[in-house]
Amino acid sequence: MQIKENEYLREHTTFRVGGPAPRYYIPESIEELIELLREHRESGVPFRILGNGSNLLVSDAGVDFDVIEIRGRLEGVELLDAERVRALAGTQLARAARFAQQQGLEGMEALHGIPGTVGGALVMNAGAYGTEIRDVLESCEVLTRTGERLRLSPEELALSYRHSCIEEKGYTVLSATFRLRHGAAAEIAGRMQDYRTRRMEKQPLNLASAGSTFRRPEGQFAGKLIEEAGLRGFSLGGAQVSEKHCGFIVNRGAASAAELYALISEVIRRVEAHSSVVLKPEVKMWGSF
Ligand SMILES: Cc1cc2nc3c(=O)[nH]c(=O)nc-3n(C[C@H](O)[C@H](O)[C@H](O)COP(=O)(O)OP(=O)(O)OC[C@H]3O[C@@H](n4cnc5c(N)ncnc54)[C@H](O)[C@@H]3O)c2cc1C
Repeated sequence: MQIKENEYLREHTTFRVGGPAPRYYIPESIEELIELLREHRESGVPFRILGNGSNLLVSDAGVDFDVIEIRGRLEGVELLDAERVRALAGTQLARAARFAQQQGLEGMEALHGIPGTVGGALVMNAGAYGTEIRDVLESCEVLTRTGERLRLSPEELALSYRHSCIEEKGYTVLSATFRLRHGAAAEIAGRMQDYRTRRMEKQPLNLASAGSTFRRPEGQFAGKLIEEAGLRGFSLGGAQVSEKHCGFIVNRGAASAAELYALISEVIRRVEAHSSVVLKPEVKMWGSF
């Protein structure tokens, strides 16, 4: 297993910001991950799991916990039977969705463009274009805080809009099993392409971001509220409300986490002043702000 000291998290987040983690582990197998978690449990050293870092804003000063990266090494996807696909937690959602499509299994195509891992997508109950991961999830294997290996149903994960109980309970996701429907591979591929085109048209994919920065307020759209508050293109240092999609805060290249955080706070303040709606970040914050 690779262990790096003072590893800068900006190398591992899609926002491209974030200071160092004291220790950064890259386990090579599920067994190594389980052993590493046992050691952390016994020593009491705090840790967090990192997927693709596509929903994280990490402080410039870094974090005071160990980080365990699971993408890349802990990945793999297999067909369990005619309608079920199992993926390890570090598998890219795109890879799992593509694999399902190639088997002529539909249900994951709208999730294909979400740049996260299977584990990170479960934590967030990630979703797009009317599909959430809970719609296709049959079960999920987790390691508990006490080292027990459990298979949980979607109900036991309490999946709701961009939320699950995984973090509150201190679970580490090991793998997920998806139940899908039979479909024509070419048609599923066509829908994937359509979603990809829509993303490329609407989202600032050429700039570093963490996707939609804010949760969707009940009955409203964050991007629309931000635009109505006159904030399209508004910037603080290198952080900017995307010109292309106001729901995205982007790093124009040299933003610091402090600038991104300051802009998020300012957007919340101005949207509240304009429309009395208090936006809540969807992006998770690591470290002190
Ligand atoms: C361009 C862009 C577009 C996006 N579009 C969408 C979209 O359409 N829909 C959507 O929902 N999201 C979208 N996102 C946000 C993001 O991709 C999702 O939230 C994704 O599910 C995060 O997965 P991740 O692997 O990157 O998680 P990370 O950002 O690495 O981690 C997120 C949280 O999950 C925890 N975690 C990760 N893996 C595990 C594990 N195995 N066990 C326990 N905890 C774990 C981490 O500790 C952290 O708290 C987008 C992001 C970008 C940059």
